[in-house]
Amino acid sequence: MAEKRDYYEVLGVEKNASAEEIKKAYRKKAIQYHPDKNPGDKEAEEKFKEAAEAYDVLSDPQKRQRYDQFGHSGVGGAGGMGGGFSSMEDIFSQFGDLFESWGMGSMGGHFSSFFGGGGGRQRVRRGSDLRVKVRLTLEEISTGVEKKIKVRKLVPCTACNGTGSADGREGDTCPTCKGTGHVIRTQRGIFGMMQVQEECPTCHGEGKVIRNKCTKCGGEGVVRDEEIVTIKIPAGVSGGMQIPIQGKGNAAPHGGVPGDLLVLVEEEEHKDLVREGNDLVYNLLLDMPTAVLGGQVKIPTLTGDVKITITPGTQPGKVLRMRGKGLPIIDQFARQYGTGDLLINVGVYIPERLNKDEKAMIEKLLESENVKPGSSDKKNFFKNIFG
Ligand SMILES: [Zn+2]
Ligand SMILES: [Zn+2]
Repeated sequence: MAEKRDYYEVLGVEKNASAEEIKKAYRKKAIQYHPDKNPGDKEAEEKFKEAAEAYDVLSDPQKRQRYDQFGHSGVGGAGGMGGGFSSMEDIFSQFGDLFESWGMGSMGGHFSSFFGGGGGRQRVRRGSDLRVKVRLTLEEISTGVEKKIKVRKLVPCTACNGTGSADGREGDTCPTCKGTGHVIRTQRGIFGMMQVQEECPTCHGEGKVIRNKCTKCGGEGVVRDEEIVTIKIPAGVSGGMQIPIQGKGNAAPHGGVPGDLLVLVEEEEHKDLVREGNDLVYNLLLDMPTAVLGGQVKIPTLTGDVKITITPGTQPGKVLRMRGKGLPIIDQFARQYGTGDLLINVGVYIPERLNKDEKAMIEKLLESENVKPGSSDKKNFFKNIFG
């Protein structure tokens, strides 16, 4: 698979482009590479898809933020699937309204026949996609996990074997479209009047209608039920990613192709650690004597507590790094190519309430020369904290 181009480059906009600029740039590309204008041109089709994918990400503030942070792997889903559109139909089902507002053809129109999406031939229907959420702990994200999820969905009707017919007979030729699966309509588009083929509203493109309908499913061939789906989640995913599982969505009427199950990843908050990309952050609050004298402290990690040594004279604001104790770094095909770090933000607790004896001890310290910062100490301290 060729390297993916940068989405900003695809649309020809700056990294800080506004939503309006992105939309404008996409409109330009969509018109330039629109299939109505480039019949049979495979390269134009690829460009059209590429622009749609870029727009899909950059027009969504959340996806755009993830893309800015993690690149293609942040929005590409996992398992090498997802990210982008697999077919022209997908693009038109998502942006059809937008194209229509621009006076361009949309799905169900001219080029659905053109790309073999339906219009010209009878076609099998596709079940719709389903979305489910799955909540993962950071521990599960660090290793990858298998989850069993109960999904309410349309499944093939067992009474008629998914055919929708009570007597097992094939459907009769559709009277509306005479079996072709489509009807012709004239419509005004950006390139003038054009004849568009649309899916037949009576048979939904199948070319056939069922007379003696199955009583259990009403002739649809599908019924509502539950299925336990096992989902393999690779290590290193992050909240907001969508993992598509092919064929596990709703079953299609009359034995068509089932839709996909789209699994949206959500992250559960960890009690000690905060995720920052592939790194983890732990806030460590030291007591004053340990910061001054040094010592050992326990740091929670995803694989259990680890003891680290604090060197004498550790300043608040210092960041310690435990290499490889973060999360797996994955590419868009869910292959791991590294591991993040665990960053420890060091703070020092200054006691707020002291008894008489403790107060006396601290007051005694004031007589000591070394507790008072010199001018170079002061400079270093603030340089370390505020850069
Ligand atoms: Zn049935
Ligand atoms: Zn029909």
